[in-house]
This record gives sequence, C-alpha cells and structure tokens, in this order.
Amino acid sequence: MNASVLVINCGSSSIKYALVPSEPDQPRLAGLAERLGSADARLKGVDSLGKPFTQALGGADHTRALEAILHRLEGRRPIAVGHRIVHGGERFTQAALIDDDVVEAIERTSALAPLHNPANLEGLAATRRLFPELPQVAVFDTAFHQSLPPRAYRYALPEALYRDHAIRRYGFHGTSHAYVSRRADALSELEGGAWLTAHLGNGCSTCAVWQGRSLDTSMGLTPLEGLVMGTRSGDVDPGLHAHLSRQLGWSLDRIDEVFNRNSGLLGLSGLTNDMRELEAAESQGHPGATLAIEVFCYRIAKSLAALSCALPRLDGLIFTGGIGENSAQVRERVIGLLPHFGLQLNRTVNSEMIRGREGRIDAGGRQLWVIPTDEEGQIATETRQRLAQSREETDT
Ligand code: AMP
Repeated sequence: MNASVLVINCGSSSIKYALVPSEPDQPRLAGLAERLGSADARLKGVDSLGKPFTQALGGADHTRALEAILHRLEGRRPIAVGHRIVHGGERFTQAALIDDDVVEAIERTSALAPLHNPANLEGLAATRRLFPELPQVAVFDTAFHQSLPPRAYRYALPEALYRDHAIRRYGFHGTSHAYVSRRADALSELEGGAWLTAHLGNGCSTCAVWQGRSLDTSMGLTPLEGLVMGTRSGDVDPGLHAHLSRQLGWSLDRIDEVFNRNSGLLGLSGLTNDMRELEAAESQGHPGATLAIEVFCYRIAKSLAALSCALPRLDGLIFTGGIGENSAQVRERVIGLLPHFGLQLNRTVNSEMIRGREGRIDAGGRQLWVIPTDEEGQIATETRQRLAQSREETDT
C-alpha cells in the first residue's frame, strides 16, 4: 500500500521537500526549490531511481514551486502533508492537525520567530490550496522541548516578561534530538536511556534527554542562544548589546545581523563557516581556523557538561548533524575535553564514521554514538501518529 507522507520545509525563498514512504527500504523522492521570487529560481532533486535533476523555475513563487514539486512526485499520491514549523510557542506540545484555529495560533507565535514562522505559513497556505482534500499536520521544532521543567526554561527576568510576553527558553532542533535519542534507545535496547545529544551542523544545539523527554537544551527564546554555530555567535554576555549600542553606536538591526550572520566559525576564523574548509585550513597552519575549531569544541563540551546536571544518570553521548556525523576530529576533541565523564573513544571506528554511517564509537564505558539525523523521517512519523490519534478520537 502506498502510504507516503509529503514533508515540506518552507523558508522565505526556498522549499525543501521529501516524499517519505511508510516502508524505510522504499526510495524517497526529495529535493529543494531555491531562490524563489528571483529570476534564477530552480528546483533540484533526485527521482525514484536516484537520478539527480535541475529544473529552472524562472521567477516562481511558493505556489508555483509547489506545483512543480507535485509534478516530480511521479504520480505518487501522499496520504498527508507534514509541515516543519519552527516555533509552536507554549501551545503546541506535539504535532497538530492543521485547521484555521491552528493556523491562527501559528500566526500569533510569529513574533517569536519573525524570520521563520511567516515563511512556514506561506508554504502551508499554498499547500492547503493545492491539496485541499489532504490532511495537513504541523510538526514543531519547539514541541519536543515543551517537557523542560521551569528551572530550565525560565530566564531570571521579571515575571511579567514571561507572563505577558511569553519570554522564556523554548529550544529548537526538536525533531532531530527526538529522532536520534529514540534511535539510540532502540539500538542500545535501553528503553528510555539518559542521553546527551549534540546536533552539530550549520546550526548547533545540545539536549539532555531522559526517558524520551527533553529535560534541557542549549537554544533558548531564539536559535541564537548556546553553542558556537556556522555564522551565529551563540552565548555572549547579555551586556554586550548595550555596550555595542552605547560605545559603537550600533543599531539593533546591525547587532542582530552581526550575531546571526557574521559570527560563529566564520567570525572567529575570518575565513569560512564550513567545517571541512576549516579542518583543511588548520592542517595548513591557519591560526584563525585553529582558534575557531578550539572555541567550537570547547563550547560543545562545556554545554554537555552543564546539561548533564539535568539528567539523573548518564548512559551516553550522541553526535549528529553535518559536523557531528562527519568530523572524527571534532568528536575526538569534544570527548577529550570531558575526561570526568568516563568516556573511552575507539579511535579507529571513530575515524571510519562518515555521513550516512550509524554506529557506536566507544571502546567500553559510557556509550558513544554517531546517528545520522532524519528530520524528514521524524516529521513523517509524527504526521502518521497524529493522523492515527485523530482517527481514534473520531472513533470514540
Ligand atoms: P548541516 O547543516 O547539518 O548540513 O551541516 C553542515 C556542516 O557540516 C558544515 O559546516 C560542513 O562543513 C560540515 N560537514 C559536512 N561534511 C563534513 C566532513 N566530511 N567533515 C567535516 N565537516 C563536514
């Protein structure tokens, strides 16, 4: 039976899609429509035979790009559409079946994610127009972290800012942390293990997961808090904003731009936000690349050590994301900075773990895992679960 879910991840000028079949061994159709709204808009992807394609979409908007994506589904009809929505605020603790009320609630949350939620909503509106008869489900990046206790999600700020303006820590990358921790539970047969997960890609975050629930995470109100990332600064002194404004006359927009786009690995190295290039530059003796990698790894280790306070015990560490799945060097450095965790790395196995490979890299002691993340697969799973739940609700 064809029971594929179409997963849609809409950005302001891009749409990532994947048609995820119910059986994991069936091929996925996947691709990316990018530069939407410009003359060189295009759609790139792979077909069911794994053959890559590129199609010019000249000036296409989200609706036209979705129509082109529809033609690339090779006649396969999904049973539902699962949408990645970045911010679900405090209302959404799990995936939600989309109706007007849910759309309105996502709109209300847009103030907390002004760059992401409006783009997600645009894709949602276009998809509802194109597939009016298909059920649509919103899967939130923040929902997995709604299990954080107040001691982890509250900032030490006046209560009214939380009560009246929803200012608190939310956390992101929830589908990734949920997927890899559940996968580690299954692979280790631990059932509800106590894990520290490190999602290290262009965006980076850590999470403490116990019994399938997130207990703390490094990102906060926005995805800027926490670790050093590709171009994002992560944590800085909260007094820095006022300092830059008063001493250098910087506007809030400029501060936002610099912290989000010119900082992180790029800012530290003065070279690039790409870890592959940084590792190559470090081997050639580039001091900025060395510093960037050192700060990056130290901040990950520091964050993992801090998040260990959220767990009643520690079963192991999980690495995922482009850097976590591929960089043996980053994994080794992070583990080397946590000598008190009782970790033993199997260096040979670690050096063989590259993108797509899944497995344990420890030589005894606490478990160390590399688990390729599968956010599309997790969104499809949560979409199916939400549909099954709503069928049960209708039956009772
Ligand atoms: P993501 O956002 O998850 O796609 O991750 C992007 C990051 O993964 C970039 O910094 C890439 O340089 C990094 N990356 C991908 N492949 C490798 C690799 N083989 N070695 C080191 N870093 C890698």
